[in-house]
Amino acid sequence: MASSTLTTPTSDLVVEIHGHIVPTALLIGGEWRSTERTFAVANPATGQTIADMSDGSPVEAREALDAATAAAESWRAWPPRARADLFHRAHRLLVERADAFADVMVSESGKPRAEAVGEFELSAGFFLWYSEQIAHLHGTYQEGSRGGYRVIETHQPVGPSLLITPWNFPMLMSARKAGAALAAGCTVIMKSARETPLTAALFADTLNEAGFPAGVINLIHTSTSADVSAGLMADDRLRKVSFTGSTGVGRTLLAQASANIMNASMELGGDGPFIVLDDADLELAVDQAIICKFRNAGQACVAANRIILHSAIADRFVEAFVEKTRQLAVGHGFDPAVTVGPLISERQRHRVVGLVDAFQASGAELLAGGHAIDGQGFFYEPTVLRFSGLKHEFANEELFAPVAALYTVDTVSEAIEFANDTHYGLSAYLFTKDLSRAVAIAEKLDFGMVGINRGIMADPAAPFGGIKASGLGREGGHDGIYEFLERKYLALTIDETVVL
Ligand code: NAD
Repeated sequence: MASSTLTTPTSDLVVEIHGHIVPTALLIGGEWRSTERTFAVANPATGQTIADMSDGSPVEAREALDAATAAAESWRAWPPRARADLFHRAHRLLVERADAFADVMVSESGKPRAEAVGEFELSAGFFLWYSEQIAHLHGTYQEGSRGGYRVIETHQPVGPSLLITPWNFPMLMSARKAGAALAAGCTVIMKSARETPLTAALFADTLNEAGFPAGVINLIHTSTSADVSAGLMADDRLRKVSFTGSTGVGRTLLAQASANIMNASMELGGDGPFIVLDDADLELAVDQAIICKFRNAGQACVAANRIILHSAIADRFVEAFVEKTRQLAVGHGFDPAVTVGPLISERQRHRVVGLVDAFQASGAELLAGGHAIDGQGFFYEPTVLRFSGLKHEFANEELFAPVAALYTVDTVSEAIEFANDTHYGLSAYLFTKDLSRAVAIAEKLDFGMVGINRGIMADPAAPFGGIKASGLGREGGHDGIYEFLERKYLALTIDETVVL
């Protein structure tokens, strides 16, 4: 087993966030390292700077890959049980720091604290899930079809992996990827989003302290993601990229991965239809639509992007939905009464203002909200817009905002056709009391995940992921760990005439 030469960050390499000490430096080969250049991280609820992070360049990224490559052989040689024990230790340490993770997430992403706690618990659950999978990987053994040999199938870690994560779920994205990669025996370079590097830093620090050997976990923050990742992607020592983010950046990374025929997993954008049929439990559908739409201020790849209502229930649904939208409390995530936080940045808010204008110009009726909120921070009112027809030109428009777009259909086939009219294929939602009907419709929906009478689906036991422009591969479930494993086939010649 590799010996560990880890350092803890010294006082000049940390910042205090809501009473918790968080590293601001890069983690390379077990050492926390600062850079001359820094970039600022703002609290989106106030717009004020809360930390100055070390700003990694392609040089530090290359050093991180040096470290990940150097540590790869000894890490993959750790016995599964030893790796699982380390995961359990890391899980305990993560749970001890649950409050710190929640507070840091609220501070840098603005989400309501209850949501941050939920995200932490789900993230820790993923870590536990993978820890349990480590010692349960199975190979196969069979007779060769032509006799005289045996076919043995086994798995080996794919190798040093780059994990690129977005800002909207900073803990969940880091834990879901790192959990799978490390469990599979890969060394990693984590590249967090520039908006939310602090959660990833606390996560890396916690794993470091739990005892992961130097070089197994490396962390790069940067204000120049494109340069930093292009350098890594061109280096053939990197064997895997696992990305969560926008479809455009996913395309760029896939093109870069093709140069070295690199293994790639992509969790990309979504345009989730939320279909409510005439026989749905309306109270349940409205409650779930509120969660599915407004959680994280609508900044979720699996958010309800187009709420599609059967005409028999549309008016009743709209009335209840608008009433519940008006009851949402917008504000600072540390206020326990708050249910909707700010958008991540002024740039995002500006985009949402333009989007709502465009919807109204195309004839959508504004039923609630519709304005940016004056004052500190990047707040926008929870908004409901109702379209009179099916605006196919807005399919493919990922709202990523606390803005609900409601549509009405007269038939189930119209609902299915409109739902599928998008290049995305991440999540869809369906509300009906008739489960046979639900299964028949779900099978026709071109999405990687379908929530039936549920608006929230993430679970460590479930294979999370999309089809079409929403990505490649799955995270979690039984498949998640295999995204970081290669199959290996051993052909074993034997003398079948051997006399026993
Ligand atoms: P983004 O694509 O702009 O950024 C994601 C990450 O990629 C960040 O770390 C960013 O710094 C980095 N990045 C940006 N440009 C890059 C480049 N040229 N090369 C390499 N890395 C680069 O996305 P975002 O705005 O942070 O996140 C929102 C998007 O993420 C939405 O489209 C959302 O649907 C998607 N998302 C998908 C899932 C999923 O599981 N499918 C989950 C969360 C978010």
